[in-house]
Order: sequence, then structure tokens, then C-alpha cells
Amino acid sequence: MAKEFIFYLKQHIGLPAVAEVKCGDYVKRGQRIASKPEGKPGANLHTSINGRVMKVNEEEIRIKAEETDFSVYEKLKGNTPMELIEEAGIVGMGGAGFPTDRKLNTKLTENGTIIINAAECEPVLSHNIARLEKEPHKLLRGLQMVIDILQVKRGVIAIKSKHKEAVKRLKEADKDGICEIAELEDMYPMGEERAVIREVMGVLLSVDSLPSEADAVVLNAETVMRIREAVEDKKPLIDKDITMAGKLKDSGQIRILEDIPIGMQVADVMEMAGGIGEEYGEIIMGGPFTGERTYPDKGIKKTTGGLIAAEAFLKGPEKIGILICACGAGKERLTEMAESMGSQVVAAAWCKQAHAKNTAYKCENPGRCPGQAGKVMELKKQGAQALLISNCTDCTNTVMSCAPKMGLPVYHCTDGSLRAVNQKLIRRNRQI
Ligand code: SF4
Repeated sequence: MAKEFIFYLKQHIGLPAVAEVKCGDYVKRGQRIASKPEGKPGANLHTSINGRVMKVNEEEIRIKAEETDFSVYEKLKGNTPMELIEEAGIVGMGGAGFPTDRKLNTKLTENGTIIINAAECEPVLSHNIARLEKEPHKLLRGLQMVIDILQVKRGVIAIKSKHKEAVKRLKEADKDGICEIAELEDMYPMGEERAVIREVMGVLLSVDSLPSEADAVVLNAETVMRIREAVEDKKPLIDKDITMAGKLKDSGQIRILEDIPIGMQVADVMEMAGGIGEEYGEIIMGGPFTGERTYPDKGIKKTTGGLIAAEAFLKGPEKIGILICACGAGKERLTEMAESMGSQVVAAAWCKQAHAKNTAYKCENPGRCPGQAGKVMELKKQGAQALLISNCTDCTNTVMSCAPKMGLPVYHCTDGSLRAVNQKLIRRNRQI
């Protein structure tokens, strides 16, 4: 192997990690190469391969890979579970990248609840459920560790009821009765943190509230698996499970790649899944709703859940209006997609439940539609000839009940991904 790996110094919420290596250094898989600033929010970073450091700057460390045995790594040195989790550089792997040691410092009462978020609500992505079906006992071990750290009695695994095999495997593996299973309906964004709390605990938190206000902590399923690895195997966070999908050479496939070394370039990961096909619209890093456009020479991160080679963009009208969801593609992403469709964005509107918070938006009640007809009319009045939307399942249903009647065709931000894997588009959901 003679490939270059890219380790971004900021792939989490908080301050960037500070490089500890310099050009020319030889590093071994599992060795710490950057550390979080003392006492500040952030995360340590470890190399996932043996190799020579080629470049260090304020944004990244590049390492030229040498022969690496992936079953071997430099072990963590901490003694307690919390020391090991912090040392391992674990962050939320569902996409947000919040440092896990900080989350586990939350004070809950003994009646508090740990919720493992196994909703995996983005369409196409399926690596969490695949791993959970294969190794349910490891998730349960991780849950027990978190229960012990936070000193609570209740652990819940929140999972969509459609994942019958995973639910069955969890129940069979839970011989000590560690967890309750909360079954969720199949809609987007069921995995949003406050949506999960609402469904499991019957409490709707405000956009400014933290889960601790419901006496709860929510952790993504893979994060909990990696907590177990840090504590039991003394393994730093160096590998990531990924769903590879879309216009691969074997088009329309979804493949689960386990333990992909973090830092590997997108092109090399795609090669492992058989290689990318010739015709695709864009490569998405993440899920169809919230992922970003990426390129073959980018490195995968601790938070990378999916790599999707989406279908070529359909030709859009000259003037398009965008309707933006707080839990889906944002304004910039929709504008980027509109441009790829050859359309000019002439009007933009946010769902009225999207609440502006600093530079981001949060939904007041994720996945429960407040009505969209007014927004659709507003966009039409501003000259939109069609709509490009990122709305949740419920709101898309509402848009579909009015926009076509106003003569506005509807495109959804997830269309290219879903077409690439031959799955049904998000449009009308008659069950809602
Ligand atoms: S209600 Fe609106 S902001 Fe909330 S998830 Fe649905 S589209 Fe997004």
C-alpha cells in the first residue's frame, strides 16, 4: 500500500486538534498524531495506518501509508472508562461529532435514561443496523458501560420497527435484561435527537433545550460500539463503518464496509466497493438528506456514515424555488443542487417550524408537519417554476398535496441518491 491518508484536525464539534507530529516522522496505526487542547472541547486524533508523515498544517495531517496489519494498533493507556473514552477521541458518529467524553459528563438522576439512537433515519444508510444485527452483544456491552458511567437504571435502544431481524437479535442477546427496546415509525427525521426523546419519553424539548432537561443522554449506536472498543480493547477511534451506495460499477448496489480506516481517501474507499461507475451526478458524503458533496481526493472522517454516488441531475426549469427543512439539506446545499440542475434559485423559504439558531436551524417538532401551502404559494409568487425541497417525510407529503395543483413540479434533495439505488422517491406517504 502506498496511498496517502488525510486526517482532518477538526472533524468534531469544538476546537481543532493540535498536531503532535512533523513531516518525516514514522507513525504506527493507533498512535496519537494530534491532541485536543487541554481542558477545552475537542477530540484527540490517531493514525489509522502505519506510515510516514508527509504534510502538517493547521487543517490536516497527511500520511503516506506503508504496510499495515489492521488487526494491530497502539493501545490506549488510560485506566478508567472515562479516561479511555476521552483518550480514544470518540465523538458522536451519527453526524454531529460532539465529543463523547463531554456528553458522558452530563449529570443525570438515578432515574435518568440512556437512549441509544439506532433509528438510522437517513434513507440508504444501513451500516448501523447491519452491525447491530451481526454483533448485538457488543452494543449491549457498550450500553452497560454507559449505564455504569452515568449511574442510571434505564437503557433504551430506539430502533425502527421495520428492522425486525435487528430487534429479534437484540432481544435474544439481552440475556441480562439490560435494555428496553423502543420501536419507531419509519419516517424522516426520526433520528433527530429531540424526535427520539419525544418518541421514547413522550417529552417534546424546545429547540434551546438539551436532552439533560429530559433527564436523558442520547448516543448513536456506532458511537456506543466504539466506546466498548475503547474500554475493553483499548482501541482508539481509528475505524469507521460506512454505507457505500449508488452508481458503483455494479450500479444500484448498497454495500456495507466495516472498519474502514479513518483518513482513507474517498476514491480508495470506493475502489474497495468495486469502483465508481462512469456516469454519476455527484458523490455525497453522509446521507441523502444531510450529506455534503465530496470529491475522490477527500479523506473520510469520524462522522462519515455514507458515500453515495448519486444519479446524474435531472434538467430543472430556468427558475426554481427552494423550500428548506431544518433537518435536511440547507440553503447552500439546495442552491448547489439547483445549479447542477441548470436552474437559478429565484426564491427561498424555510419551513415555518425551522427555528433560526445562530447560523443553523432547528426544527420545533421534527417530522410533524405544520402545513406548507403558504410557503409553496409564496415561492410561486416570487417566480418559481418548480420547487426543490429538503422537507421531512410528513412535510413532503403536504407539499405534494398542494404544489402540483399550483402547477409546480417538485424535486427532492434525496432524489439523486434514491434513484441511484432504485429506491422509491420521497413524495407522498399515504400512511401519514
Ligand atoms: S416540520 Fe419542517 S423543519 Fe421540521 S422536519 Fe419537517 S420540514 Fe423539517
